[in-house]
Amino acid sequence: MLEPPPSPAISNPSQRPQSFDRYIGQRHNVEQLKIYVQAALARGTSLDHVLLSGPPGLGKTTLAQIIAAEMGVQLHATSGPVIDKAGDLAALLTALGTNDILFIDEIHRLSPQIEEILYPAMEDYQLDLMVGEGPGARSIRLDLHPFSLVAATTKPGHLTAPLRDRFGIQLRLEYYRQEELQEILMAASESWQLGFNLEALGIIAARARGTPRVALRLLRRLRDFVQVHGATGCLATQVSGYLAQLDIDAQGLDKMDRRVLRCIEERYEGGPVGLEALAIALGENKTTLEDLVEPYLVQQDFLQRTPRGRKITTKGRAHLRQRPPC
Ligand code: ADP
Repeated sequence: MLEPPPSPAISNPSQRPQSFDRYIGQRHNVEQLKIYVQAALARGTSLDHVLLSGPPGLGKTTLAQIIAAEMGVQLHATSGPVIDKAGDLAALLTALGTNDILFIDEIHRLSPQIEEILYPAMEDYQLDLMVGEGPGARSIRLDLHPFSLVAATTKPGHLTAPLRDRFGIQLRLEYYRQEELQEILMAASESWQLGFNLEALGIIAARARGTPRVALRLLRRLRDFVQVHGATGCLATQVSGYLAQLDIDAQGLDKMDRRVLRCIEERYEGGPVGLEALAIALGENKTTLEDLVEPYLVQQDFLQRTPRGRKITTKGRAHLRQRPPC
């Protein structure tokens, strides 16, 4: 058995690339953004407001940070559910410098009252605030510095039309191809000095649900296994074995994915079953199922969302019949 590799401290633990050129994949979106940023810089104006949509972990926050870095401005980050009072949003908006970026994650979770305040801010860089209460209440108008709102959402369909229409740039992030994830993993493996080879990283990439966050999480766990057990013989075989211990199967499905499919198949005869009933049967949160579990199952054609509920597909049934895991 070889000596366990040394354990260098992880620098840049989230592995967030800092520039467009270091951002792997999503080429179409990145090429567009590069042009819009370059044009805004040449004009000396703020970037038009940007809406980034797509499943969790695909790099929306990372892109927002890169946009700010490439524009050479400050990024002020917050998220929809955190802003629950008009004063919270006012404090954020008035703190923005010229052309700064306000990043709002989960923008679909903003309350309608807050949305109303955002409209004039986005359109005319003005903030209308009510001061006082009752008959003495009055509205004041504040001028803001020009800024760009970069918003992220996993549910673009939940945005109201007036809010969606105020974003001049709307980009949808797609799941990553295996080669792209392999490249992301290679960069992380090099920066963390893991020495994982392409074959081993390819195996991880194939099971990472098309999602960089999942790929990097798996890499961190495998790093732990290799560090404790040492690198013995073929790393790729070892990696496959560890992934099996983590209950990740050959299609990248984990225990939870298989529970969902099995529940639909066995308790609801393949469906359709409503999300609510499914969440209760599994003892899980509806949002977790809807945002984290289902999108990949649908994308891989294991599950169908129909108007009458969720249904397992033929491919999903066949997958359940395979011997778990791997
Ligand atoms: P989201 O905001 O869409 O949930 P994040 O931007 O937080 O996703 O990205 C999740 C993780 O994946 C981060 O650690 C980030 O560094 C990494 N990541 C995402 N996209 C890329 C990419 N294109 N290239 C390299 N790393 C990426």
